Amino acid sequence: MRIDIITVLPEILESPLSHSILKRARDKGLVDICVHNLRDYSTDKHHRVDDYPFGGQAGMVLQCEPVDRAITFLKEERDYDEVIYTSPDGDVFNQSIANQLSLYNNIIILCGHYKGIDYRIREHLITREISIGDYVLTGGELPAAIMTDAIVRLIPGAIGDEQSALSDSFQDNLLAPPVYTRPSNYKGWEVPGILLSGHEAKIRDWELQQSIERTKRIRPDLLAD
Ligand code: SAM
Repeated sequence: MRIDIITVLPEILESPLSHSILKRARDKGLVDICVHNLRDYSTDKHHRVDDYPFGGQAGMVLQCEPVDRAITFLKEERDYDEVIYTSPDGDVFNQSIANQLSLYNNIIILCGHYKGIDYRIREHLITREISIGDYVLTGGELPAAIMTDAIVRLIPGAIGDEQSALSDSFQDNLLAPPVYTRPSNYKGWEVPGILLSGHEAKIRDWELQQSIERTKRIRPDLLAD
């Protein structure tokens, strides 16, 4: 899979994309993540990519031309399954969207900044708009990093069987069961005995019951789906 991220602040994405599972998936060649500085696609001599909004509102808006040039350049190299714009008013990102996106070959994620991007880009070039929640961030870089992390860990081989992504919360609309590690007794706080029994089938059954019970209690809306 290849993920191209277009941003005015590539520096914000450096660390989140360079550690742990993302680093290993990149090193193994399971995903190619390319971060592009939007300013490299500006024709302005100062690499400017924003301008004042028509209508006299406050703030700046990312201009059509550099965004169009960046997306067009990438599209000339390969076909993309989606050109995603991170936006507070998009579809709210969840595990199901992450699952869907993880099956694609190539996606572009465009990060907005300032007041956002010229709306004509959204009308003509963007195929999907995704929000990471009902709050407003400074830019689309953290949403892009969050989406990329959630997508990449689903790519087969990115995480080992022992950490299978399929047992994480929200797969099958269930929250994950509780997890424990050594020591089995810490200050008198005991690990549930079943987990120490060595009885594989009973342990799996206990985990499922815990998942169902926790989901009913904490996120009953998931079971309604
Ligand atoms: N004026 C915009 C509005 O009210 O919808 C918000 C602009 S915000 C300051 C700058 C950029 O950050 C947005 O264009 C978007 O790319 C990104 N962004 C902010 N909050 C986001 C969220 N909850 N989900 C995804 N992207 C977000």
